[in-house]
Amino acid sequence: MTSRVSFRRCDTYEDAHDVLNDLLLPFEKYFSKGDEVLVKPNMLSPRKPEEAVTTHPKILEAVLKFLLDLGTTPVVGDSPASGTAMSVAKKAGIHEVCERLNVPILNLNDPVETNGEVYKKIKISETAITRKVVNIAKLKTHSQMVMTLGVKNTFGCVVGMEKAGWHLRAGTNERFADLLIDVHLIVSPVITIMDGIEGMEGNGPANGVKKHFGLLAVSDNAFALDYAIVEALNVDPEIVYTVKRSIDRGLIPEFVVDGEWKGEIKLPSTVPVVPVPKPLQSLARRFVRVPKINVNRCVRCRICENTCPAGAIDIDRTRIDYSKCIRCYVCHEVCPEDAILLVRKFLMR
Ligand code: SF4
Ligand code: SF4
Repeated sequence: MTSRVSFRRCDTYEDAHDVLNDLLLPFEKYFSKGDEVLVKPNMLSPRKPEEAVTTHPKILEAVLKFLLDLGTTPVVGDSPASGTAMSVAKKAGIHEVCERLNVPILNLNDPVETNGEVYKKIKISETAITRKVVNIAKLKTHSQMVMTLGVKNTFGCVVGMEKAGWHLRAGTNERFADLLIDVHLIVSPVITIMDGIEGMEGNGPANGVKKHFGLLAVSDNAFALDYAIVEALNVDPEIVYTVKRSIDRGLIPEFVVDGEWKGEIKLPSTVPVVPVPKPLQSLARRFVRVPKINVNRCVRCRICENTCPAGAIDIDRTRIDYSKCIRCYVCHEVCPEDAILLVRKFLMR
């Protein structure tokens, strides 16, 4: 069956309710009165709505009203990279919306062991598996995975510290993309919505540069949605790990794009600017971007030290052990002070 990706230009969050309502109408048929629904926004870390790190509360509000009008029972949930769902919700304006609409906020911490196509024993929240899922992603770059879009957003359904452990177990970005795809296939959202009115470019997903994209997009297939967005941004799909592996695994369906939108985006500094000639590739692989603690900005909160899957960070000495570091850039992602720099370094190994 041919999938549909709907794009609409939307320049302000004040207009988001009307635009989204229109976009969601064709999806009414997927829900019945009494359905239990998990709404999974991007709740990466405790940041204000205007920082464009988390799903904007106006988008969440429009989605919750749509679901409540259909007589479903929604909850909002995530398992954030730092903080709890409640602490993120309070800072991100999500709590105020949920309180007003009487919708509970859940920290997704109810693991069940599941098996994916590539990986086994993935601990995913039972809430995400037993409820219909509405996935609301944010259009951002990602220092490790190049971009974070619809498929990656469901990684927040993997419970707590399990997420950090998977960075270590997967090993490479391609293999980590396979895990993200496995999780997405297991969670299998009914619809994926892209909050692309304000997003992020550069070294996202938390400490990049805020960017106005003016996009709202919806699809019942996040693989098609992600591919369409990457194409509309004129980014090579082969360099965005989740999109590349989706192509390799034959997961991009035939799809049509309804609506017009084009954008541009500055990719993370971790992505090579020009293709490296083959004879120089092994040398180039040693020139890598590594995290470095900016001692003047660091407030010694230890969030990075506690989240680093490789145990490579020593905050007492403000040092990173590069022989342990796997360059997942989680430290850069979770630092609330933007105190982790990504610097070029020649590694001997
Ligand atoms: S680098 Fe950032 S996350 Fe790590 S201890 Fe310093 S302020 Fe906290
Ligand atoms: S130091 Fe940072 S980039 Fe290196 S493994 Fe730890 S979290 Fe990942």
